[in-house]
Amino acid sequence: MTIGIYEGLRKIRRRRRALWLCFPAMALVNILAAFGTQRLFPENTRLLFAVFIVSGGACLAISARDAFSRCPRCGHLFYWLGVLPFGFARACLHCGLKRTPKWNPTDDQRQEIRRWLAASSPRSPIPDVGLCCLACAYPLTGLVDRKCPECGEDFKVENLVGIEN
Ligand SMILES: [Zn+2]
Ligand SMILES: [Zn+2]
Repeated sequence: MTIGIYEGLRKIRRRRRALWLCFPAMALVNILAAFGTQRLFPENTRLLFAVFIVSGGACLAISARDAFSRCPRCGHLFYWLGVLPFGFARACLHCGLKRTPKWNPTDDQRQEIRRWLAASSPRSPIPDVGLCCLACAYPLTGLVDRKCPECGEDFKVENLVGIEN
């Protein structure tokens, strides 16, 4: 099963949320550990150091996972232009894909679109399965061309929702 653009973007957003959460969580864990070790093992400073190293390592790993996210449309590093990082970019720096698309299909909608894909030829008109343009949310029902009539965005349905294989 290959994942589609929508799922890929969801993953990118999830990684960013984890990044925002991990630093306050690390601070909290270390504060609690400082109080705890002081009470229970006043002589043991290594324990606190170990908590600091492990939680810091976890935060670094979460940051790296976010920073090196790949764009689900073009495959390039979402936040990097060459060696320059742009962590606050809201769209892929290579192909312009927005991190939060205008239309986000539910799991059920993606499933229904995949079922249609599996049963139809690639150029058949798009049935009423709720497919909309990811750039402008224009409904794509009935289209034969794979180009949004509203904003001109080219798309491949199988890239949008992914395919089961
Ligand atoms: Zn891209
Ligand atoms: Zn569009």
